[in-house]
Amino acid sequence: MQKVIVMMGAPGAGKGTQARRLAERLGYPQISTGDILREMAAAETPLGREIRARQAAGRLVSDDVLAEVILTRTSRPDCASGYILDGFPRTLNQARMLERLSGQQGKDVILLRVVVSEDSLMKRLTGRRTCSQCGEIYNVYLRPPQHEGFCDLDGAPLEQRSDDNAESVTTRLRAYEESTAPLIDFYRTSGRLFEINGELPVDEVFRSVMNVVTGKRK
Ligand code: AMP
Repeated sequence: MQKVIVMMGAPGAGKGTQARRLAERLGYPQISTGDILREMAAAETPLGREIRARQAAGRLVSDDVLAEVILTRTSRPDCASGYILDGFPRTLNQARMLERLSGQQGKDVILLRVVVSEDSLMKRLTGRRTCSQCGEIYNVYLRPPQHEGFCDLDGAPLEQRSDDNAESVTTRLRAYEESTAPLIDFYRTSGRLFEINGELPVDEVFRSVMNVVTGKRK
């Protein structure tokens, strides 16, 4: 059966990495509604301005716009065998929308949730440092550079994102938990929620992801 794979995970859980690897392995496109909307927001049209304002305020873009975006993108030929969704659905209404659409497309939806403890997420996010020049990512606890504060590759200073401090991280994690709980319940009650232990090394996490997707884990 052709699949729609919804990827979910808290900020720092490694969802993006897993989604990228899965897309490569299966040959499915990885569809990020955040990316598509950022592109649309660049247009000097009423819709572009509306999306820009909402994204800047960290508010959700309307379900009507999302319906159009998802329908258009998933109707492209590269989605014929299946696709991976990243950042959609974000509301129950969007999840219902996806039920209808995937039904029409003859595809099954599963939700893959990469689960990482709050302690680990805190370490991953507050320890994260990025090279100001090449973008290489380090972690002062888990993957420190050879010379504190400087990139191993080009020697440029490392930077910390302004929202990667303990207080902002706690707020972001709480907001994430609250907003995703109803969606997780929605897929759990219909037996389509698969939880993956995201604490393990990347390759092992990916093995669990593949076991779910190929039906080795029920
Ligand atoms: P992201 O890159 O997934 O963090 O999304 C960035 C922004 O795009 C969000 O803060 C929303 O403004 C918008 N966005 C992305 N996906 C959705 C969605 N499924 N529903 C509504 N707004 C979205």
